Amino acid sequence: MNRRRIDAALAHATETHAVVIGAGVLSQVGSLLFQHFPGRTALVVADTVTFDVAGRSVMDSLAAAGIATEAPFIFPGRPILEATYDHAVHLRAVLTATDAIAVAVGSGTINDLTKLASHLAGRQYLAVATAASMDGYAASGAPLKRDGFKETFSCPAPRAIVADVEILAAAPARLTAAGYGDLIGKVTAGADWILADALGVEPIRPEAWALVQPPLRSWLDAPERLAAHDPAAADGLIEGLVMTGLAIQSDRTSRPASGSEHQFSHLWEMQHLEHAGEPVSHGFGVAMGTLAVTALYDWLMRQDLGTLEVGACCGAWPTAAEVERSVRATHPHPTIAEKAVQLTLAKHLSREQLAARLEHVRAVWPDLRARLQAQLIPLHQLKAMLFAAGCPVAPEQIGLTQARLRASYEAARQIRSRYTVLDFALQTGLARAALDAISI
Ligand SMILES: [Zn+2]
Repeated sequence: MNRRRIDAALAHATETHAVVIGAGVLSQVGSLLFQHFPGRTALVVADTVTFDVAGRSVMDSLAAAGIATEAPFIFPGRPILEATYDHAVHLRAVLTATDAIAVAVGSGTINDLTKLASHLAGRQYLAVATAASMDGYAASGAPLKRDGFKETFSCPAPRAIVADVEILAAAPARLTAAGYGDLIGKVTAGADWILADALGVEPIRPEAWALVQPPLRSWLDAPERLAAHDPAAADGLIEGLVMTGLAIQSDRTSRPASGSEHQFSHLWEMQHLEHAGEPVSHGFGVAMGTLAVTALYDWLMRQDLGTLEVGACCGAWPTAAEVERSVRATHPHPTIAEKAVQLTLAKHLSREQLAARLEHVRAVWPDLRARLQAQLIPLHQLKAMLFAAGCPVAPEQIGLTQARLRASYEAARQIRSRYTVLDFALQTGLARAALDAISI
């Protein structure tokens, strides 16, 4: 781990004050809790698997530091725990029956549930990572499902994070691969931000960009060592995931770490996409989303948008009422459709606005194309990296048909108001031709 890099990120973070990454660091949990929450008791939150892997050592460390502990709250290990708002509300009730500080021992779902439950209980908490499987440890906000719609609930990141790289390296390979998938998604997330920046939709904020993009390639350069359970490689991966979480925290939006690739993943999660009887993980969804988006970018890079026909694009542009009808036809689930209408209309342009946007595209295209090319990893290279890490590289490997993947481009665009390459392809009138031409 690059201590200087983490410390520089912590200096900008408002919620997280300590990050401890290393071998054998679980023994520090007790002293860390004492330091940040003197006089408080602790309540370990885990599932049956993470309690065995790390929860007992955490309890020992708390006892060694003289901290009184409540009975741990342990979710069942099977079936896979769903990240729902209702679970967080239940956990809040458990917490408020005590005065304890929660110690989340687990990965994505355990951390997100404890994050929101602690916030609802008016408390901070401490996170102990058991797998380098996603970037949510240091991120503000908890992405959870309520009434079928996956949204990010606003709540602070943990006060302190502890990640033992030996435990992370020994975690099931699919979890580490998922973390790699989540991290590689920052490549297209960065490209989408470049696009939004160049077109005056959302300027790049340099402090948040600097936390993620300059070191990103170095975090991604050893996928085969991750698959071989190498602790040094796990150290680099968790550093990248924690750094991107800290970028979300300091930026107060997920823009530095989440673009169109995440919209695919969120869509599939809401659609309960399963493969081999298991829900597809966030990181595997992001990996496939990153491939889908990169294929689109690769195709767009080969077009000459400097000669785009603005009048023709504007003539074919739908009205708000037509957009609403088409969004409702895309999403059969009523709650998802309702939200998707709101979010899509929030970024819908009038014909006049579209004309101005497209004139802008024509003017900046050569320069914009060069910036995007420097940011992106070509599709064949991306596939090789994901394959080496143990991620899926074909839609069928996460239970998607080619037809469903194709339909997901438009459906994914509609579930967030954030401007991405999916909007760019639609507004330039190229979405259909692109989808006819590309495949992954
Ligand atoms: Zn993610």
